[in-house]
Amino acid sequence: MHGIKRIIFSKKSRVQYIDVIETYDYGLMLILDGKVQSTIRDEYFYHEALVHPVMTAHPNPEKVLIIGGGEGATLREVLYHPTVKQAIMVDIDIDVIKCSKEYLPQLSNGAFEDKRANLIISDGRKFIESCREKFDVIIIDVTDPLEEGPGQFLYTLEFYEAIKNILNDNGIMVTQATSIYYSTYCFTTIYRTIKKVFEKVGCYSTWIPSYDSMWGFVYGSKGPDPKSLNKDDIDTILNQRKLLNTNYYNGKIHEKIFILPKEIEKQLEKGGIATDKSPTFMPA
Ligand code: SAM
Repeated sequence: MHGIKRIIFSKKSRVQYIDVIETYDYGLMLILDGKVQSTIRDEYFYHEALVHPVMTAHPNPEKVLIIGGGEGATLREVLYHPTVKQAIMVDIDIDVIKCSKEYLPQLSNGAFEDKRANLIISDGRKFIESCREKFDVIIIDVTDPLEEGPGQFLYTLEFYEAIKNILNDNGIMVTQATSIYYSTYCFTTIYRTIKKVFEKVGCYSTWIPSYDSMWGFVYGSKGPDPKSLNKDDIDTILNQRKLLNTNYYNGKIHEKIFILPKEIEKQLEKGGIATDKSPTFMPA
């Protein structure tokens, strides 16, 4: 898929295969279990699209939980919101964090050293089920649901019910939801599953060049609905939070990302949901 200049780091961790490579088109690239996670050149499309629609929709996100997010770029974007007092990040694999800090430090841009950040190494599912704290925003940035992969039980009904229990009354959750084109059934299953749990649910997508696809995101909310905010609302909030240095996201983009191709819209309501007994998988 991508022309490789050189392999910089390769390791089989306790959890997954980790590679950092240098490519011709995207610069340094992090790969887990053979799948592109982030590249230096285009990572902002994914991380800004994942974080900012829900963070700006919440009127005062003070306490944020990130599940996954190994490279630290999701944490970085969360901490750009000055309302945030505490951001907890829970990733299963310390080796992804160590290698990202060493070879791809631009991705976290100092976020791990921020006093508001707290890193916990644990399985996200176990953490959520035993957590006694509540959060304003929960962001799920885990690897795709691959059969036997570490993320397979982080896309199920039981997982989203546990997430809902630890969200504050007006809290919002969002998850990356795979490719809307290459894995439409997986994307729409994640949407239907979250819809079973939350009254307000929505999905959006954005083009990620290095994934070579329109990428999907799904949110569930107990409070504000991100898609009810228009261009001017978003630009006003970004201005108030002094968040005008984004590379991708602004009010215009916010309005655009909720428009899905008609064919995908039609498929949103058709089909089943994902449960622990019958999880959804993205084709490898
Ligand atoms: N942008 C990404 C993509 O392409 O899907 C996700 C990026 S991020 C690197 C994925 C992180 O999820 C990895 O660091 C991985 O260790 C973590 N992860 C996978 N399964 C997990 C689990 N069960 N609990 C917590 N973290 C998990």
